[in-house]
Amino acid sequence: MASETAMAAENYEAVIGLEVHAHLATQSKLFCGCANSFGAGPNENVCPVCMAMPGVLPVLNRDAVELAIRMGLAAHCAIARESIFARKSYFYPDLPKGYQISMYERPLCVGGYVEIEANGERRRIRLVRIHMEEDAGKNIHEDGTSLVDFNRSGVPLVEIVSEPDIRSAAEAAAYLRELRALLRYTGASEARMEEGNLRCDVNVSVRPRGVEQFGTKTEIKNLNSIRFVEKAIAHEVARQIDILEAGGRIMQETHLWDPVREETRPMRSKEFANDYRYFPEPDLPPLRVTPEWIESIRVALPELPAARRERYVNALGLSRYEAAILTEEREVGDYFESVAAGLRNAKTAANWVMTEVLRVVNETGKPLAHAVPSARETGALLAMVEDGAISLNAAKTAFMAMCQSGKPAATIVRELGLAQVSDEAAIAEACDQIIETHLRKVGEYRAGRDKLFGFFVGAVMKAMGGRANPRLVNEILKRKLDQ
Ligand code: ADP
Ligand code: MG
Ligand code: ZN
Repeated sequence: MASETAMAAENYEAVIGLEVHAHLATQSKLFCGCANSFGAGPNENVCPVCMAMPGVLPVLNRDAVELAIRMGLAAHCAIARESIFARKSYFYPDLPKGYQISMYERPLCVGGYVEIEANGERRRIRLVRIHMEEDAGKNIHEDGTSLVDFNRSGVPLVEIVSEPDIRSAAEAAAYLRELRALLRYTGASEARMEEGNLRCDVNVSVRPRGVEQFGTKTEIKNLNSIRFVEKAIAHEVARQIDILEAGGRIMQETHLWDPVREETRPMRSKEFANDYRYFPEPDLPPLRVTPEWIESIRVALPELPAARRERYVNALGLSRYEAAILTEEREVGDYFESVAAGLRNAKTAANWVMTEVLRVVNETGKPLAHAVPSARETGALLAMVEDGAISLNAAKTAFMAMCQSGKPAATIVRELGLAQVSDEAAIAEACDQIIETHLRKVGEYRAGRDKLFGFFVGAVMKAMGGRANPRLVNEILKRKLDQ
């Protein structure tokens, strides 16, 4: 049965399009001066405008437009010289105006693409559009009561809509990681899924392999972790294939992901009937942006992850995998580059950041700048490894001590006595002693038991407290044993 299902799955291809909402990292909300901040007490960040008192008027936040344009340029979109805000009408207790101000027929950013790498393959996922809109408030249901918190009401968002170019859960995850990186590199959004400022609706259909026409899609709303997106897609693709294999038909419906039961379930279709009665917002003029403004935003963009990855591979000799990991977060890339600047080999820095640095960051849960020593001190430590002054293992010990105490590399290496002994006379003396105490083994080695060499190296290292320069130990031992 299981293998039958697997065989059926082989005959289908998934088609996926994502609609991603990201909160823009502005100081204030989209149409009023209230703070745009996470974690305030209920209804602390509110005013007559974002609570929709009668007679109030929206005033557009210029910073929000600039951040949306930054993201649009980073995603290779065309920026519309003129775009139009529209009213999207629906009723919900957390939407006091009875409509959301969004963009409909004429969005701010059009087309574009995002480059992803998944399963060792590089692909472009095209975008339909990126438009601006305001968020709604939040309904809270607890202890048999329903409450509304309007802090989120009017917070600026971009909605990034992809073409149905994604073909697997892994590609969807790679696409989301790349969007998150772009949002953060450009400063458009903090893009923290756990704080709800990056949310994703997933559209999924399947089609028999080789067939060009798309199948009927379903939509899964409001996923707030990349892992859930992957699971929800896997689950939905399998569900659709089962229906088609049983001779059934896919219904165009909206589903909700249940993270506890790890399955999707349909929402009442009436609740999300797409009859929003969009029309141009009469309280806002068309949004006009000048080519000069767009250009000034473009030239101020930082190097973006895709360009950085190419540079790491082509100029620094890293693998694509290493380049992908090191560029996912801007601070990680910056840190890696500062460490590498003082070293002969960028690989040394890459390995160190990917293993030691990221491990400490993950374990402590602190931001990189607070979790690990400065790039200068980490670079100084690794320079000692490159110069043979300390071993790699000693560097690991020193690094942990540096993370804890904040002392410089040189101080820690001295305090912990980690400096490597490269004194040839001292090493030669230790070798002689080991040879004398193990004459029988020496005989066996000379008679052809080459494997014993490792034993001698270990014995010398142990005798020298593990601090002897291993290259010298190997050289000197070989010379003496082969005499
Ligand atoms: P709707 O009007 O239902 O919102 P749209 O055409 O606006 O549909 O597309 C919404 C999202 O669904 C887009 O991200 C798009 O790429 C995706 N999509 C469209 N058709 C399909 C399909 N057949 N299978 C999977 N995703 C699709
Ligand atoms: Mg939709
Ligand atoms: Zn307000």
